[in-house]
Amino acid sequence: MDAPGARICKAFFLTASPVPMILPPVSHSWLPWWTSVATRPLRPWWPHTWWRMEASPAHPPTVYLTFDDGPTAIATEALLRILRHYDARATFFLIGHHVQAHPQRVRRIVEAGHAVGNHTFTHVDAWQTARSTVIRELEDTARVIRAHTGGPVPLLRPPYGHLTPALCRWAGRHGARVVMWDVMPADFQRGASPTSVARFTTAHVRSGSIVVLHDNPMTEPVTLQALEAILRWGTARGWRFEALPTPTTGP
Ligand SMILES: [Zn+2]
Repeated sequence: MDAPGARICKAFFLTASPVPMILPPVSHSWLPWWTSVATRPLRPWWPHTWWRMEASPAHPPTVYLTFDDGPTAIATEALLRILRHYDARATFFLIGHHVQAHPQRVRRIVEAGHAVGNHTFTHVDAWQTARSTVIRELEDTARVIRAHTGGPVPLLRPPYGHLTPALCRWAGRHGARVVMWDVMPADFQRGASPTSVARFTTAHVRSGSIVVLHDNPMTEPVTLQALEAILRWGTARGWRFEALPTPTTGP
């Protein structure tokens, strides 16, 4: 069975295609390219979104790793351990009902210097769900995260990458940012291996890149090894791994 994040890209990147096309069979070899490169022309059309951060020549090259779908019982701890070993920071997009199940993990993430964001309460698909339900899921999730962090939750990522104008407007009204990505190595995809995920990431990452990985027991065997390889590769080159900046306003 696919990991919970697995349908992300099949749906988003097939339907968000700027060009009607006959699609090849879904395989790990083309999906990361499609998700990371072919969607570039669409990005400027969506307000209040971040796809890649500004690279500053004054600073060492910086990469923003993000982990979706946590917090989880085991995977979160393993991720935190690896990140700590490399003195790396990241951003975790949390599911509201997972926050309720593992509140102590949220505190551990924040105490370790990472940022957290909103990934809806039940991993709801904004393309298949009433607008009011999606907004309520975002508000409920912001509330449960805020209960543990004490501050606003100004970053959000829609499950499956399914942007809608209403979601972007909601983010804009609250001073929040919708965080997408420019590198999606598809660690959730059947056929992904630690080597394929690490290779795709290191080949496509640039300073300011936002990389999507998953905090999910089903992707864990691939994600953890890939993460080690990515961090080893980056730190050997003097790259920094940082949490996304968090606006001071937000829901
Ligand atoms: Zn997700």
